[in-house]
Amino acid sequence: MPSGIPLRFRIRFWGTRGTCPSPGPRTIRYGGNTPCVEVRAADDSLLILDAGTGIRALGAQLMRDGDSEPARIFLSHRHSDHVLGLSHFAPLLSQARAVDICCGDGASASLRPFVDALLSPPMFPTVDGIRRRLGVHDWEPATARAVGTSHVHRFAAQHPGEAAVLRIDDAHGPALAYAPDNELAYADATEATAAWRVQLTSFLRDVPVLIHDATYLDSELPKHVGWGHSSQLEATRLALACGAGMLVLFHHHPDRDDDAVERMVQESRAMVTAAGSALRVLAAWEGLTITA
Ligand SMILES: [Zn+2]
Ligand SMILES: [Zn+2]
Repeated sequence: MPSGIPLRFRIRFWGTRGTCPSPGPRTIRYGGNTPCVEVRAADDSLLILDAGTGIRALGAQLMRDGDSEPARIFLSHRHSDHVLGLSHFAPLLSQARAVDICCGDGASASLRPFVDALLSPPMFPTVDGIRRRLGVHDWEPATARAVGTSHVHRFAAQHPGEAAVLRIDDAHGPALAYAPDNELAYADATEATAAWRVQLTSFLRDVPVLIHDATYLDSELPKHVGWGHSSQLEATRLALACGAGMLVLFHHHPDRDDDAVERMVQESRAMVTAAGSALRVLAAWEGLTITA
């Protein structure tokens, strides 16, 4: 960790794309790897949010750095775009550091058989020791998980199957929240959905950094009701409602080219300006590093 920076967390994005890897010249600025976010706490503990294809390059960097800090992987859920990179996370092939994984999706099914399937034939060749080196933990939904001086809390997202919104706190309170796949469904005025949004807004109250699903444009929402994703303007509306300090648009649609993502950011910023808010908005790109 660079010295001299007064920070609570350093957040680095290794994969920002949703749904399916989408490399190529049209996505070169924001990146084509699927979700993976590195979070370093002030006590140097290492939390990794999701194991999409971005985790491969993170693993290579960790091997180059050579420190032995345990890697704690927190999955938001088990959809393929969030776990595709796990088998290529280099620390799993090394004895140098402990690697643990848990999933915040709240599903009753244990995580161990799921992870074993990912790391075994026919999905993956037999590699000696790789499964043994990975500590797999089930996560009791009502409890926070502690890593060093940080605590990771979960909240049930609206997403097919089950998925989590994760919030990382330290002694000063909430620092960042991660909601990669979450259907805010502002067009749905039913009592249950409205009540869920109130609870979610409360869960995210005053969070300094909110990383949120921005898969769609508003114009695309009517055709994707129930698909489990939000528009960037819905994410902006939530960030304004909860008093976030910064909104990072995330989980970019695989068909969205770089210029289109830029336009989405401009639309969000216009919404913030119209609201008279100081909220900062940007779209996550591979390599982006921010502090909380
Ligand atoms: Zn996803
Ligand atoms: Zn998903």
